[in-house]
Amino acid sequence: MKSKWMLLGAAALMAVPAIVWAQQYPIQVVPVGKGPYTFPPGFRTDFSKVQILVTEKLSSNLYILHGNAGVDTAHPDASGGRMAVLFGPDGVFLVDSENKPVAAKSLAAIRTFTQAPIKMMVNSHAHSDHTGGNGFFARQGAVIMAQENLRYEMMPNPNAPPRPAGAPPLPAFDPMDLPTVTYKYEAATEGKPAMVIHMNGETVDLIPMMPSHMGGDTVVKFEKANTIYIQDFYRNFGYPFADQANGGSIKGMLKAVDLLMNLSDDKTVLVPGHGTFIHKQDLLPYRAMIVDLLAKVGELRKSGRSLKDILAMNITQKYDATTLGDTQDSKDRFVTELYNEAVGELPPIVNGRRNMPRNN
Ligand SMILES: [Zn+2]
Repeated sequence: MKSKWMLLGAAALMAVPAIVWAQQYPIQVVPVGKGPYTFPPGFRTDFSKVQILVTEKLSSNLYILHGNAGVDTAHPDASGGRMAVLFGPDGVFLVDSENKPVAAKSLAAIRTFTQAPIKMMVNSHAHSDHTGGNGFFARQGAVIMAQENLRYEMMPNPNAPPRPAGAPPLPAFDPMDLPTVTYKYEAATEGKPAMVIHMNGETVDLIPMMPSHMGGDTVVKFEKANTIYIQDFYRNFGYPFADQANGGSIKGMLKAVDLLMNLSDDKTVLVPGHGTFIHKQDLLPYRAMIVDLLAKVGELRKSGRSLKDILAMNITQKYDATTLGDTQDSKDRFVTELYNEAVGELPPIVNGRRNMPRNN
C-alpha cells in the first residue's frame, strides 16, 4: 500500500509542476543530446536531415532555435549554433543565423510563432554555424550588426590553409552575408554595450568581447529576461575552442569568463552557442581547468617537450569523465591551442586574423 501511495504522490508531483511552472522561464522544449555519437568514416553532415526546432523559451517573446541531435558531425549534440529570436510588434531581432543550408528552415521555425517582419540581427562570432544564414536573412530585411573584426573574418581569406582532401568546396562568397553596422571592442570600455537596442519591451545590450573564441565576438544581454547569449568561448560539450588563426585566444577566454562573472547575477541564464544553459558559477570550474592545463603545458613546453609529446600524454585525463563530447579531436585541438599560448604571446590580430606559426 505504501508504495502505491508513493507512486500516486510522485504522479501528483509530476503533474503539478506542469501547471505551476508553465510561465516560469527558461522553459526547455527539446533537450540537447548527450552522446556519445559515432559516425561512419567519411560521413558528412546531410543538411536535409537537419531540423530546426524551438528548443528553449527564455521569456514570452524570446525563443531559441537549435538543430536536432545525432545528425551533424561538427555538433552532434544539436546541429549548428543556437539562434535567439526576440519578437513582437516592433519586429524580429535575431542573434546569429545558423548554417547556410538550413536558413529557410530557420525562417520556417520563426514563422511558427510570429509573423512579424525580420528587422535586425547581431552576429556573436563569425563561424559559419552562426553566420551561414546571414545573406538569407539580410534579404528578408535584417540589418546585420557585429564587431568590425567579425566582418573581416567573414571575408575570403587569401592565406587560408588548403582544404582537407575530399572536402567539399567552400560556398561562393556572398557580400550580403557581411554585417553592415559595425563597432569595435575597446579595452577602456570593456563590458559596456557598444549598442543598445530597444524592441518589443526588451532592452538588448550588444557587448563586444576581447579576443577570446574568435577576434570579433559579441555577447548579447537581454536585460528584462535576465539572459546573456554568451556564444562559444564557453562550452560544455567538447573541450574549449579558441580559434587562434581567426583572432581567438585561450588567455582571452579566461578574461571573457571574468567579464561574464561581472555581467551576471546568480539568476542570470547564460546561453552558450552549444551545450546546455548555465549560470555564472558554472564558469568557475571551466576557468580552473583552463588555468590548470595551461600551466601544465607551459611547464612541459619549457622542459623541451614537443607538441607531439604533449599530445601523447593525455593531460586532459582527469577532466574527461566530466566533459561530455571529449573526443580525441576535441582534446587534441584544445591541447594544441594551449601549446600555442603557454609560452609567449600569440601573433597580433590584423584585420581579424592572426598569422599563426606552424607546429610540428
Ligand atoms: Zn564557434
